[in-house]
Amino acid sequence: MADIKTIDDADFAGKRVLVRVDFNAPVDGEGNVTDDTRLRAALPTIDKLVGDGARVILTSHRGRPAGEGYEEAFSLGPIARRLQELLGRDIVLTRDLIGPEVAEVVDAMENGDIVLLENIRFDKREKKNDPAFARALADLADAYVNDAFGTAHRAHASTAGVAALLPAYAGYLMEREVATLTGMLDEPKRPFVAILGGSKVSDKIKVIDALMDKADVLIIGGGMCFTFLLAQGYEVGASLKEDDWVERAAGLIEKARERGVALLLPTDVVVADRFAEDAATKTVPVSAIPEGMMGLDIGPETADAYAAAIADAASVFWNGPMGVFEMEPFAAGTRAVAEAVAANEAADTIIGGGDSVAAVNKFGLADAMTFISTGGGASMELVQGEALPGVEALRA
Ligand code: ADP
Ligand code: MG
Repeated sequence: MADIKTIDDADFAGKRVLVRVDFNAPVDGEGNVTDDTRLRAALPTIDKLVGDGARVILTSHRGRPAGEGYEEAFSLGPIARRLQELLGRDIVLTRDLIGPEVAEVVDAMENGDIVLLENIRFDKREKKNDPAFARALADLADAYVNDAFGTAHRAHASTAGVAALLPAYAGYLMEREVATLTGMLDEPKRPFVAILGGSKVSDKIKVIDALMDKADVLIIGGGMCFTFLLAQGYEVGASLKEDDWVERAAGLIEKARERGVALLLPTDVVVADRFAEDAATKTVPVSAIPEGMMGLDIGPETADAYAAAIADAASVFWNGPMGVFEMEPFAAGTRAVAEAVAANEAADTIIGGGDSVAAVNKFGLADAMTFISTGGGASMELVQGEALPGVEALRA
């Protein structure tokens, strides 16, 4: 972050500051925000700017509107209402994104006021990073702050284009996400244990490959483990498998051996006759997965071995559940790993990935973790060594 200015590097008193936030939060049928984590995550930055006496113009996307103008279903109305409750102050929600209506609202702002622009993706020029659209956004403000780590892997007008046109700063959330994740990758405390799960190898291959260069222990669970088990020569029955990726999995097993990385794969699994909560289940060694049955969780012997490795870690990065944790009969493996990570109080523990974070929340263990990344896709791209356009655009 050395070459990126943060909001601590400036005093924004009296300045109009365009702040890109990630308010892409779930909303129910009644228009209530059902998980306000992302809104809360932006509060420190908003508080600092308001405290400075800035005129804060917030902008975010929500969902996937067509980009042909206003759509009620994707309005930021519910977000504005929840944010008002969290901040205990009024917020003006504009109908337009740029143009005379917005200019008038901004002109009328006083120091410390907050305006929220409607869903920035109502205009398809946002995702195209259209230069004229970025210019019109920049014309609203004197400075730009990006606090939307969750969209930092996208080069859009509000995440990248506008940053080149105004003095640009990272907000606190952006700063903390980037510093924490890069710190872990550059100088992990050892032993560094990386835990990877989730559904597919193909989704995570770059992350696994990148972590293989950094970690001392690599733990594999979730649906992806069956492609590795195939590479080890086991039969996996009706489990999730990606035949085209068996060779790559074999290559990773070989790479681990060459590098002296301890690659831990399941030795037992919970199998089911159907992908259902009430399926018939049993626990079997990986050498005896019955034909026609599918592995939906790691088994208890595997969970114990993984927990023991996690207990010895000085730092842990976890992405991807160990099984279909959404269904209780297949949640034990993910719960055991989550509890082991939570119990290792001395270690730096970082959780990334939408479903992994949901699992940790479901088990009520979020507070026991050192850091929970708010950016699923962005954190994966950062871990796999890719430059994030939203971060690059902030570099001086
Ligand atoms: P994250 O969002 O944390 O990056 P992924 O999206 O890669 O994680 O994967 C999460 C999904 O993987 C969960 O919905 C979970 O049900 C599924 N999953 C885990 N284990 C299995 C398995 N053995 N078979 C099928 N799906 C699985
Ligand atoms: Mg996911």
